[in-house]
Amino acid sequence: MRCLICHGEATHITPERGGPDWVSIRCGACEDYDVTETAIRRLKALDLDGRRDALQKAKGFARPGVQPMITSACLVTGEGTSE
Ligand SMILES: [Zn+2]
Repeated sequence: MRCLICHGEATHITPERGGPDWVSIRCGACEDYDVTETAIRRLKALDLDGRRDALQKAKGFARPGVQPMITSACLVTGEGTSE
C-alpha cells in the first residue's frame, strides 16, 4: 500500500496492531504510526505539507515509546493550540 502521509511504499500492519476503526502503518520515511478512519478521510483532502504536519502533531501528542496515532485532533488547524 501507499503511505497515507508521503505516498511512498508502506506496510499496513493489521490485524495484529489494528483496531476496529483505525489502522497501523509502517513507512520507511515516516516510521510507524496509527491513523483513524476519520483521519484517513481528512488526510486525503490535504496536501503533502498538511499531511506531514498532521504526523508531526501526532508525534507531539504521543508518549515516549508509544507509536503516534493520527486522529482528527491532529488535523485541526487554526484552533489556537500550541501543539
Ligand atoms: Zn510515509
